[in-house]
Amino acid sequence: EICDLMRDGAPLEDWPSHYFTISDRIRRAESLLGTSYVPGKALAQAIELGPQGVLDDLRRSNLRGRGGAGFTTAMKWELCAEAEAETRYIICNADEGEPGTFKDRVLLNSFAERIFEGMAIGGYAIGARHGVIYLRGEYDYLRAPLEMKLAAMRQRGLLGTNVLGVPGFDFDIEIQMGAGAYICGEETALIESLEGKPGRPRIRPPFPVTRGYNDMPSVVNNVETLCKVVEVMRIGGRAYALLGTKQSTGSKLISVSGDVARPGVYEYPFGVRIQTVLDDCGATDVAAVQISGAGGMTLAPHEFGRRIAFEDVPTSGAFMVFNRSRDMFEVARNFMHFFAHESCGFCTPCRVGCALSASIMDKIAAGLGAQYELNELTRLGAVMRTSSHCGLGQTAGNAVADTLQKFRPDYERRLMAGDFAPAFDLDAALE
Ligand code: SF4
Repeated sequence: EICDLMRDGAPLEDWPSHYFTISDRIRRAESLLGTSYVPGKALAQAIELGPQGVLDDLRRSNLRGRGGAGFTTAMKWELCAEAEAETRYIICNADEGEPGTFKDRVLLNSFAERIFEGMAIGGYAIGARHGVIYLRGEYDYLRAPLEMKLAAMRQRGLLGTNVLGVPGFDFDIEIQMGAGAYICGEETALIESLEGKPGRPRIRPPFPVTRGYNDMPSVVNNVETLCKVVEVMRIGGRAYALLGTKQSTGSKLISVSGDVARPGVYEYPFGVRIQTVLDDCGATDVAAVQISGAGGMTLAPHEFGRRIAFEDVPTSGAFMVFNRSRDMFEVARNFMHFFAHESCGFCTPCRVGCALSASIMDKIAAGLGAQYELNELTRLGAVMRTSSHCGLGQTAGNAVADTLQKFRPDYERRLMAGDFAPAFDLDAALE
């Protein structure tokens, strides 16, 4: 339903009331602050502060990336600004492909000016003249409206040459489409894709802040992070840091889906308890919550008192709710097939580990598994976690590991009766 509303370009006001959450909260926050968003105001504030002033204010805010890893935004920008180069880039990661995440789509659809303004502030602070939005292939329908909004910003002098009348401050943004690969949400794979190569994660170092797009220093920020930059400029870094927790300042957008009465995008200060979100979205009889997508954490009811924050339960924004009618083995099997499909194939632990784990899950689903298969899943998960080249492979086994530990009966009731040994035990043979 959310998808259809967006495709139709329906304004937020026309949506059913429970989809209002973002705009409501933003408007309420703005009325509390006594300011409403005016395009260009945050950028003007940034220009008043000067590049170093922007970096200082950002450091005071302790803003951390909203893509999931939580790297400090100020540090990323500073490292890029310090790198010796003639050209720098600000790249907006709009390749929102994590299962269960759709909050960036809402921002791109309804708050795009804030994203562009965040990029322009970044360009001003680090001395970049070029911005690139890497837009998820499946969001192709957003391209034309985004281009129109970019054109309007150019007309108002918020992009282009001598932005806001500041001599020498030239900054513009182009949109480049992804082609549907999940791995291109990883920043170095995204850069490879931007350069026209297959989306495979690079070996780091060097990091993109020193050698990124076209071998030039590049900052890659999530859509939501760039919107938060605008908030920091509007209210000041110190005020921003008052919201949330010490290590996780500000607020977080959460895409709530699954067995809930009111799905949608919610915004909370960091530190909110899982149970609070469940109460707000009308979830009852909950068996599990999958946080941060297919490679995230599977939380059971005894963990619903935990808090969404980098120091407890970090998240890129996905919040999938499963009630007690759901089979958590099937949920984990589905995720493992997703990873087997999306693995880029560059490194063996992930390429082989994901495919092998998926086939073992299929074997168990067919009633042909034994205790040996459960041990093999655990062993493969550990190998993938410790030896895969990038985050995809390192986290691919998380849902299986979590559900094996917390929902083991969903696995065991499928096993063949009796303690079947494998026909051939490779470990024993190698010993
Ligand atoms: Fe590719 Fe997976 Fe290796 Fe990442 S971990 S580089 S996705 S094969």
